[in-house]
Amino acid sequence: MQQFKVPIKSRYRIWDLGRFHLYGNGVYQACEGRGRNCIILSSMELPDFKYHPNPIATGSIVPSVEVCPVCGESRGFAYDGTPYGTKELEHICPWCIADGLAHEKFGVEFTDTEGVGGYGQWEKVPKEIVEEVAFRTPGFAGWQQEHWYTHCDDAAEFLGPMGKEELEQMGPEAVEVVREESGQQGADWECYFSKLDRKFTATAYLFRCRRCGQLGGYSDCH
Ligand SMILES: [Zn+2]
Ligand SMILES: [Zn+2]
Repeated sequence: MQQFKVPIKSRYRIWDLGRFHLYGNGVYQACEGRGRNCIILSSMELPDFKYHPNPIATGSIVPSVEVCPVCGESRGFAYDGTPYGTKELEHICPWCIADGLAHEKFGVEFTDTEGVGGYGQWEKVPKEIVEEVAFRTPGFAGWQQEHWYTHCDDAAEFLGPMGKEELEQMGPEAVEVVREESGQQGADWECYFSKLDRKFTATAYLFRCRRCGQLGGYSDCH
């Protein structure tokens, strides 16, 4: 376990979720326990994922004391889940995702390449973009195979799994995008919409086009 000295003076805490503190200068602290009992596991800037800008908020990256199976280090953060691939690799650190080492070493994919564009549902994008999403970007865990929204000849950025409440917070456009994709309307939609939940039963996955800002996404259930 690496030790970190944190010059707290230069920072102000802007987000406290119990397990994470995000400071004004973009540095995350991964913690265990709350308040005074908080133990700092790690404090650092996460790598920049252009198609998944805040993997901590979406829940794809979590605090972890485990050793990353790719670099052999315990760096305080890890991928929550196992990527697609031949080996069941858990606790991959975000740095080994970002620099492509996890993919190069073990051939894993964080999103199925065919899932980028939603198996033909949305635009086809260049191979380099598909590979950046599939091989070097944290994925997310859907109930079914994950679909990654594409628009304007690019993959969109993932905003997170969402329930009714989160979608409503994102505004009417977000709700409409998910409704339209579901193919439901009227009372059927209202019933389905009321069941959408970030973690249980049925979940929506929202994306935003990096070029024009168009929201996109879908929902699924188990
Ligand atoms: Zn690693
Ligand atoms: Zn667009």
